[in-house]
Amino acid sequence: MSKGKVILVGAGPGDDGLLTIKGAKEIEKADVIVFDRLVGENIINMLPEKAEKINVGKNAGNHPVPQEKINEILLNKAFEGKRVVRLKGGDSFVFGRGGEELELLKENNIDFEVVPGITSAIAAAAYAGIPVTHRDYCSSLHIITGHKRENKVLDLDYKSLVGINGTLIFLMSVSNAGEIANGLISNGMDIDMPCAVIENGTRPYQRKVISSLKNIAQDIEKENIKSPAIIVVGKVCSLSEKFDWFDKMPLKGRKIIVSRTKNTSSKMITALKEKGADVKIMPAIKTKPVDFEMPDLSKYNIAVFTSSAGVDGFFEKLYAIKKDARSLSSLKFACVGTETAKALEKYGIFADFVPSKFTGKVLAEEMTEKGFCSEKDSVILFRGNMASDEILDVLKSKNINYTEITVYETYFESCDKVDVSGYEFVTLTSASCVESFIKNADNLDKESITALCIGPKTEEAALKYSLKTVTSKEATIKSLVEKLEEICND
Ligand code: SAH
Repeated sequence: MSKGKVILVGAGPGDDGLLTIKGAKEIEKADVIVFDRLVGENIINMLPEKAEKINVGKNAGNHPVPQEKINEILLNKAFEGKRVVRLKGGDSFVFGRGGEELELLKENNIDFEVVPGITSAIAAAAYAGIPVTHRDYCSSLHIITGHKRENKVLDLDYKSLVGINGTLIFLMSVSNAGEIANGLISNGMDIDMPCAVIENGTRPYQRKVISSLKNIAQDIEKENIKSPAIIVVGKVCSLSEKFDWFDKMPLKGRKIIVSRTKNTSSKMITALKEKGADVKIMPAIKTKPVDFEMPDLSKYNIAVFTSSAGVDGFFEKLYAIKKDARSLSSLKFACVGTETAKALEKYGIFADFVPSKFTGKVLAEEMTEKGFCSEKDSVILFRGNMASDEILDVLKSKNINYTEITVYETYFESCDKVDVSGYEFVTLTSASCVESFIKNADNLDKESITALCIGPKTEEAALKYSLKTVTSKEATIKSLVEKLEEICND
């Protein structure tokens, strides 16, 4: 059997946006992914289903898997002919033991590649408003380990570190901050030298403490700073307030559950993360196309879509039977809202009608009231199996002919229960989303979580379960996110 290959990939400091494009491509191609404790949780959640995933950050006793065991896993998997991604926090060669792993691979004649990552040493500082170099403040940058072997003192050349006039960045140093500060002070560094500690750098729940050399150890204790954190010592730390941008993001650190649906969640997640929110994804509903017989479309003159899944289901079938846009020439198109209309645009068609409020009921009422549709028309609706009867009731009451076709099915994705304690909000985009949130939420405290509902129907469903609700002005993701910002900045 041919030997496999190992690719050392630096996952960056935590923010999944800081994983490199090359790293992401390697992850997609991997048969096996061996990952560490410091790899961002959003990156871990994105790892492809098909790959075997091995977490070496923890084992049963909550201790990391020893390096020898990790080595054994890498070798065995490579000898089985697998493409192995060894995924590490930050950059694999910055105190990441990447070099040691390469020694082993080389000895065993196993091919390897290295994809550098963004190191926390620089990125955590950047997210705290600290440029690690600045011509007015320093002339060099040093990354130093503050880790000491059991019962030993730190073996650091403090004299040189003080003399070099650079920015000093200590990793693995939280518990030894006092010893480091004393070492620097007793070798002549100014006791008022600005310092910063950045915990969980680049993650939405990042915390920073700005201090001075004389106070740093006690401030770390007072704020209960825990690993992973870096300590930055140097004049550049004085820029932290002025250059702060991350802490100022409108949804910074707000804890939000997004219940996942196929078509809306990725947009929602991106929009929330871009504003600094701490997003947890909860599997909710999925849709799958169902087979249906395409009717003779020339018999109809109005097509109605109430979701982007409906649009996709319709066009997939149309193309599968080798028909194209020419077979739609008799039709005008009505969509329930702008998200659905955008889905239609992807197929080269602009909606002729979108109601003022994005619900099925208002769509049907306005189509008739505004003369878009009358008794003379023949309407065809392409929808999901769980669509409500509101539109049909209005059409019936106005004596309008219609045909309804189910083009996709909605089903609940089964998953382990998700611990929602500590979360302030959950976004809900349909009544079935509400159902699955209730089913999958663990430790749900209805007093402390607010359901952000996309429209009145969803709100109605949430109220049935006595959830506290807020509803967005319009049934769009943009409007829902705006509503959230409004609440958070009140
Ligand atoms: N290879 C990693 C460093 C591994 S050593 C890198 O390049 O970032 C582990 C130390 O890295 C931690 O003790 C902490 O000091 C630092 N670290 C890693 N991720 C961090 C983060 N998100 N925020 C702050 N410090 C982090």
